[in-house]
Amino acid sequence: MRDLRVILAFAALTLTACSVNPATGERNFTAFMSPEDELRVGQKEHPKIIQQFGGIYSDPRVTAYVDRIGQGLAQVSELPDLKFTFTVLDDDIVNAFALPGGFVYISRGLLALANNEAELAGVLGHEIGHITGRHSAQRYSQSVLAGIGTVGVSILSSVLLGTPAVGDAIGQGASIYLQGFSREHEFEADTLGVRYLARTGYDTEAMASFLSSLEAFSALEARVSGLPDPASRFNIMSTHPRTGDRVVAATRAANVKAAARTKDERHTYLETINGITFGDSEHEGFVRGHIFVHEPANFLFEVPEGFTLFNSARQVTARGANGAAILFSGGQIPHRGSMASYLTRVWAKGASLANVETIDINGMEAATGRARLRNASGGFDARFVVIRHDQDNIYRFLFLTPPSRTRKLDSDLDATTQSFRKLTAEDRARYGEWKIEMRVVRPNDSVASLSRNMPMPGPKEEWFRVLNGMAPGAQPTPGQVVKLVVE
Ligand SMILES: [Zn+2]
Repeated sequence: MRDLRVILAFAALTLTACSVNPATGERNFTAFMSPEDELRVGQKEHPKIIQQFGGIYSDPRVTAYVDRIGQGLAQVSELPDLKFTFTVLDDDIVNAFALPGGFVYISRGLLALANNEAELAGVLGHEIGHITGRHSAQRYSQSVLAGIGTVGVSILSSVLLGTPAVGDAIGQGASIYLQGFSREHEFEADTLGVRYLARTGYDTEAMASFLSSLEAFSALEARVSGLPDPASRFNIMSTHPRTGDRVVAATRAANVKAAARTKDERHTYLETINGITFGDSEHEGFVRGHIFVHEPANFLFEVPEGFTLFNSARQVTARGANGAAILFSGGQIPHRGSMASYLTRVWAKGASLANVETIDINGMEAATGRARLRNASGGFDARFVVIRHDQDNIYRFLFLTPPSRTRKLDSDLDATTQSFRKLTAEDRARYGEWKIEMRVVRPNDSVASLSRNMPMPGPKEEWFRVLNGMAPGAQPTPGQVVKLVVE
């Protein structure tokens, strides 16, 4: 969680002519976006993307490595003269996307999941394929034609407008460049990606093997979090909706001779990612069971049993059974007046609040109020809480409960409000980042013994297999290098 502002707005772009696609040789409808426009959009949005997705991952060895692999692929693409920029985002969600004009992003969460250089190259090649295929330009032009603009939507207004599902804000507010592509564009990006893999000598099956790791990872994550629909998260599944069958078909359609293309550089890859952060980073705060702790901002709070916490660069949410949700946000917010005035005149200005009260939360000034938010399916009871942490920082809880559950959950949610406090020295000693660490398998090791001390919740053996691309039931062989997650 960094900041609440979730708005990406895009200036209208000038009208230009039709174009021949450099990658496919076909004529595409790109009337509203020229290559110069694409570069301009990319350059303009690049710093915003970095800010929204956790910042640049600050390990120069890792970023230089990703750049080297990416540049190698870009060199053999149809746009070798375009300056490509590859960025590793400090985001634990498995994600990759591209902006027009040669900007490619992958998350450190994706690096932790991939098992060799060929899989990384497969992801980068796919993103390069979207750029050389000019898919954003086509989509942008079509959406302009259809009269669909991009509208920034803040978390609160999306709630007030009655969006029933409390999803990642980016899913509602982000730009068309980050939305999923069409099946056709995904297929084309895969085909182009495989072409670049083949030209650089990589194992062309790597794209499909990474996708199966991703599917296994998403399924496990969904099961552990109790959420049936992993696609509701803003991740690579939503930015690049595709299935194993389609990727295999695209690999075939690329029509490259697979025999000689077997380079995977597994050893180099694992050596490079050894020690990278896994899960939440310190500057975004940690989810540890029912506790959210943010060391740089100096606070923690606890959500009730039955709620699952999610942390992203944009907000912290907790979802409970029967549609109850907690949205937490805040940070540097200048407000001279009281917390009650901030609540009623700024944050919840649009809602008609009842029961506005000034309260004390562990020595901090706070205010609370209630409202009924209506939408098509009935509505929510909303409880707003704002807390002045110190002179410059304000934090906010928005508790949403279906009216039939409000009374039952009230004391639990009150406990969450009261759990918000500043950190002690013990708290600071107790919570830290998790890291990916390589281990050479010894003769007596098993999945059970290797995974025993991994800190994540849920079935540790399954996490181990998923992270190492191992089939259910498989055991590692002595001498093999495997990934562990360590505290
Ligand atoms: Zn894609």
